[in-house]
Amino acid sequence: MSEKPVNLSTTPRLHVAQPLVQGASIALPLPQSHYLAQVMRRQPGDFVRLFDGASGEWAARLVSVGRKAVVAVVESQSAPQEITADLWLCAAPLKRDRFDWVAEKACELGVSRLVPVVTQRTNMGKLNLDRLRAHMVEAAEQCGRTALPLVAEPVSLADLLRNWPAGRALVFADEAGGESLVGGCARAPAPAGVLIGPEGGFSDGERAAIRGVLGAIAVSLGPRILRADTAAAVAVGVWQAVTRG
Ligand code: SAH
Repeated sequence: MSEKPVNLSTTPRLHVAQPLVQGASIALPLPQSHYLAQVMRRQPGDFVRLFDGASGEWAARLVSVGRKAVVAVVESQSAPQEITADLWLCAAPLKRDRFDWVAEKACELGVSRLVPVVTQRTNMGKLNLDRLRAHMVEAAEQCGRTALPLVAEPVSLADLLRNWPAGRALVFADEAGGESLVGGCARAPAPAGVLIGPEGGFSDGERAAIRGVLGAIAVSLGPRILRADTAAAVAVGVWQAVTRG
């Protein structure tokens, strides 16, 4: 009897830490095993899609399914490694849930690196980078990414600007006004970064310092003041649309 064709688009998609190669046997960690066995009710012989962040996406077949331990064997590559646009999102940390949301959207919108930037008015509690990474992994599983964005250590605005790489455009969302977002992004092909301030905005001194960076392009996101999380998603989404079609 021939096998039923596999519809990979409805097959669970999971990130694993272990490097994936054809024939590798992958013992899935407890939460993923629980998800596949108990929530998705998968059986031995069923397929999952796995990605390790570096080698594209792979179809893997479940060879043993226990309530807490599921093992899959990698069969074939189902998608190549994505080519990521080199776009950094540099954003002041926000209250926990809001910044988790920013991390999730940054991943969905194809950012290559999230850089938490500490500004004068940044209201930073404890920033848990592992939590941010976990949100990005979940977003990558859901949206089909095969490359996970890097989450950088927090950096002060002064250090970010001092060390801004030559040749990298800096799209600065300036709440006090700037050129149109579409026009600014068109002048800022990759490698580029988008810079978003905290809820309290940038100080005048900070705004002047950012504008002084070689490659900085101050843009307006429109006539209304957006929340910082909204501003991050809009600026990144428009940059992707303008520079990548
Ligand atoms: N409290 C500040 C607003 C901060 S909004 C004030 O009232 O002026 C948070 C960040 O989102 C800003 O620092 C900026 O980077 C971005 N932002 C929000 N609305 C914007 C707009 N209309 N144009 C450009 N940037 C904007």
